[in-house]
Amino acid sequence: MSGRSLFDKIWEQHVVLPENSNTPAILYIDLHLVHEVTSPQAFDLLRSNGISVRRPDLTLATMDHSTPTVPVSSLKDLKVVAEPEAFNQIVQMEKNCEEFGLELRGLGNSERGIVHVIAPELGATQPGKTIVCGDSHTSTHGALGALAFGIGTTEVYHVLATQCLLQRKPKTFAINLEGHLQSGVTAKDIILGIIGKIGIDGGTGHAIEYRGDAVKQLSIEERMTICNMAIEGGARTGMFAPDDSTYEYLYGRPHAPQDEAWDIALKEWKMLPSDDDAQFDKEVTLDVSKLRPMATFGTNPGMVIPIDGAIPSPSSSDQGFTKALDYMQLEAGQPLAGSPVDVVFIGSCTNSRLSDLRAAASVLNGRKVAEGVRTLIVPGSAQIKREAEAEGLPEIFKAAGAEWREPGCSMCLAMNGDFVPEGKLAVSTSNRNFEGRQGKGARTILASPLTAAASAINGVVSDPRTFIS
Ligand code: SF4
Repeated sequence: MSGRSLFDKIWEQHVVLPENSNTPAILYIDLHLVHEVTSPQAFDLLRSNGISVRRPDLTLATMDHSTPTVPVSSLKDLKVVAEPEAFNQIVQMEKNCEEFGLELRGLGNSERGIVHVIAPELGATQPGKTIVCGDSHTSTHGALGALAFGIGTTEVYHVLATQCLLQRKPKTFAINLEGHLQSGVTAKDIILGIIGKIGIDGGTGHAIEYRGDAVKQLSIEERMTICNMAIEGGARTGMFAPDDSTYEYLYGRPHAPQDEAWDIALKEWKMLPSDDDAQFDKEVTLDVSKLRPMATFGTNPGMVIPIDGAIPSPSSSDQGFTKALDYMQLEAGQPLAGSPVDVVFIGSCTNSRLSDLRAAASVLNGRKVAEGVRTLIVPGSAQIKREAEAEGLPEIFKAAGAEWREPGCSMCLAMNGDFVPEGKLAVSTSNRNFEGRQGKGARTILASPLTAAASAINGVVSDPRTFIS
């Protein structure tokens, strides 16, 4: 019998009842992340069925998608700045959390922020945990060796009511990352390179484990960027085995185990990495030393090329590709670099952490964004905002002509007042470039914070390596 993978070990530890041909497995959930957009119907179902939340202590609630990124100090202020739908979601979330006894990291809370940013930051995301949230990018938490995936609204209800979830076991997929990154090439370029290689359905039905020599050079924040977009390659989730970087990241965080409990947890976490003879259902290798900064040109994250490459030609039968180029107002054969940019967004659960803001600042420092390019920089959490301010990053951004905002999902999804105007081209550090994702008719190019900042300075899609000495 072959060894077990990281995924197999966590799965087996959490199966309450195994699956059979008729029924999925019942899986125990260690941490349920709840936010204002996908929870209202779940709370309504609890209410109408007279059910309470089974484990409020294992439920972490925040507000991120609908919250405005301008300062708001009262509900009266909120009503002025928020869209009516967003306002209602925020007010309802406050009511639901109060009624069901959940601690909410709401608007005025010092720990608030994007759900996938604050849970690791608080140390609530830990190796070996099963973590779910009504949000596709829950895979982010796999960066710390957790098994984490997005769930639907009905499943949010199931987990709130039972702390368990019906789930079919995915297959395993090893993505081996080899080599050393070149200067100006980042974790975002790795994941865009992976999706370009495997396609947007390459991971369908699989749990990815990122492995290989290159992993050691990746910080936990970089691993979060890579896990965040596993879902964009079709995978159920993405994970990294916990290692010394994971333990250093978690040590001392408020929700991490303390004292003796830390020693016990550490022993358990060290048992989690895949066995040397673990078998995977699928395997792919990527030499990251060959990567260049990557940017998307179409309307899904798999339509991606190196920043200095030319947009490929569609095959005569690929109507979707032709439609995507029409939507993006780009032409096959033309270079992507040099396309005029209207908006730059640096933020989202993919790239709004302190290291991302530092990267952006390294390019913007002492320079000015091009005239007419709206540049929005949005920290992922209140804590990141404080840390960035302590380092003086906002002064760099503001001196460059960029806007420095309150934490939240912001322009990632255009439901909180921040959006890309119709027909305008945005370089965005978020994770989705679907039609209309950042606003009706908005055209989105996904890229790293370095590439986004370089594009803001030049006013056209730009290679960040020209800014790096
Ligand atoms: S930043 Fe975007 S992808 Fe991430 S949780 Fe918010 S809306 Fe979802």
